Amino acid sequence: MIIARTKEELNRYLKLVRTAKKTIGFVPTMGALHKGHLSLIKCSNAENNFTLVSIFVNPAQFNNPDDLNKYPRNETVDLDLLTSESCDIVFIPEVDEMYPEEDKRIFDFNGIDEVMEGKFRKGHFNGVAQIVSKLFEIVRPNKAYFGRKDFQQVAIINYLNKNYLPELGIDIVSCNIIREDDGLAMSSRNQLLSVSERQSAALISQTLKKYARNFSEYSVEELRNKITDEINLDKNLEVEYIDIVDDENLQTVSEIISGKTTICAAVYDGTVRLIDNIAIS
Ligand code: AMP
Repeated sequence: MIIARTKEELNRYLKLVRTAKKTIGFVPTMGALHKGHLSLIKCSNAENNFTLVSIFVNPAQFNNPDDLNKYPRNETVDLDLLTSESCDIVFIPEVDEMYPEEDKRIFDFNGIDEVMEGKFRKGHFNGVAQIVSKLFEIVRPNKAYFGRKDFQQVAIINYLNKNYLPELGIDIVSCNIIREDDGLAMSSRNQLLSVSERQSAALISQTLKKYARNFSEYSVEELRNKITDEINLDKNLEVEYIDIVDDENLQTVSEIISGKTTICAAVYDGTVRLIDNIAIS
């Protein structure tokens, strides 16, 4: 596996890959890799000749400096995992390499950035768009892989790709959520949970699943309140939001239509903020 730390190094390798007419699959990550990330790499390997993974903890998408400082980092373990997953190149730039000067671009997402994560993490999606657009322009992949764990992020990336970067011709592929045995969505932030918080965390997906199954017994408002109250009963958990949204425009629905509606959650487990979602089918 090739390790590139600068754009110049990366470009040198990518030139050879393009000359050989190989298709490039790209998996952007913030490291502290787990089976969720590895599933995206597996998808990319299955659909492309060549897989490139980036590891970059992007300061521009953190609205909370404490969250950025605490974010788990473990390059040695990540490199081992990437090698065993047959990643071809990993790009690990420093902050100055990606932001040699301040990025002042402001993206307009036609409102899909104003709900849920966008409402509670001001500027988060603008920061995501800044880094992903830079990476897309450097890597110019055929396909890029994102997890539905970050449901709203997938919508933002699709919008960015279609409206801001159409000339790159990238296909965005969204992949299933990978979960622990008890249902907890895998996340780098799970490493930050204490033993008791880790036990509580399972309740988030279990509650979402239970109400997604029984959705027809309740109104949207009742469903939202039931899920919130049930999660908040646990001493470690505090719901930041539960939203039940239309898969297309991400706005709160007045009526649930199976196959077109998703329940999304952000929950504090102690001081660790976890997100999850479940599609109503
Ligand atoms: P992150 O390193 O958290 O920025 O995540 C990098 C990519 O992995 C994003 O596209 C995430 O949506 C995806 N991802 C993270 N956790 C999971 C998971 N449990 N299942 C599937 N994809 C995931």
